[in-house]
Amino acid sequence: MNKQFRLAARPVGLPKASDWKLTEEPVPTPADGEVLVQTEYISLDPAMRGWMNDAKSYVPPVELNAVMRAAAAGKVTASKHPGFAVGDAVEGVLGVQQYAISNGRGLRKVDTKLAPLPAYLGGLGMSGLSAYFGLFEVGQPKPGDTVLVSGAAGAVGSIAGQLAKAHGCRVVGIAGGAEKCAWLRELGFDGTIDYKSEKLSDGFRRELPKGLDVYFDNVGGDTLDAALTRINLHARVIICGAISGYNATEKPKGPSNYLSLLINRARMQGFIVFDYIKKYNETYEVLNKHYAEGKLKLRETIVEGFDTFPDSLLKLFKGENTGKLILKVQVQ
Ligand code: NAP
Repeated sequence: MNKQFRLAARPVGLPKASDWKLTEEPVPTPADGEVLVQTEYISLDPAMRGWMNDAKSYVPPVELNAVMRAAAAGKVTASKHPGFAVGDAVEGVLGVQQYAISNGRGLRKVDTKLAPLPAYLGGLGMSGLSAYFGLFEVGQPKPGDTVLVSGAAGAVGSIAGQLAKAHGCRVVGIAGGAEKCAWLRELGFDGTIDYKSEKLSDGFRRELPKGLDVYFDNVGGDTLDAALTRINLHARVIICGAISGYNATEKPKGPSNYLSLLINRARMQGFIVFDYIKKYNETYEVLNKHYAEGKLKLRETIVEGFDTFPDSLLKLFKGENTGKLILKVQVQ
């Protein structure tokens, strides 16, 4: 049988158990041109919270009663597609389910000799691409620039910081907790700010004595507002995400320090990883190469058990992941 988590209701605030429905169906059979994938790892992403809302966005919302949208990785168990064979390790948008049919579009074969399967959902997958495009396409850092990253110990932030460091920048990360900050220093971050134990303004005074040139923002809200007070002339503010507001029940207030953009002739720009789809393959190669050369360190927080999905997703919003949060389908 194929277990699936379907969206039962549109959440208000943090998703609750009753917003989900666990269903079971017979494992489907692929038609001509299709493959059947058994999912082994499911990617848990902050964006999933946005896809549950009935609101205009960069992708349509997940319909009520539909299988929840998610990236996942696993093995091909049956194939009627010329490009895939039984046993191939693959990754794609396969949903929160134990088996998925794919017509091959957007399904990527991955090399489990280079890195274990979960890596392709994180640093060698969408998180890595998001970090890369946000940093280089939007942030355009120059060697010697000071780059500040929020959500720095998360999936995207930890890669963005390492890429900026490899590019010759001075990198400062904001993260919640001493352990996360210690890990960032292991990754080579030059400075860290533990926003749970000190005021951002104190951390900025210590770590950003000459201000910042690029701000890679994953958090939004008060963190973005505070960072705007530190930007240098012609700074670039990358709006990658705003996780602090994803479960808010009231509209967030706008950044009150936005005039700093005017004073500093600075730029603040959002992006969506899909904007750069034509550059995915070449960028996967860059990320794989960095990883193979030991220049990119990856970490995953792996939670076991398909049925834990509703609770496991909430870990993102409680800061309970370091690196990429992933659900392992089978309990060991
Ligand atoms: P992540 O950072 O691995 O996980 C979430 C982390 O966010 C938590 O561990 C927690 O870390 C922090 N957080 C949670 N609630 C917070 C709050 N209220 N205030 C401050 N920090 C909070 O997730 P990710 O997958 O790497 O995604 C990071 C951001 O990038 C998200 O905003 C996501 O939506 C965005 N994103 C955008 C794109 C795009 O195309 N633009 C693509 C992928 C992801 P602490 O313990 O440090 O608080």
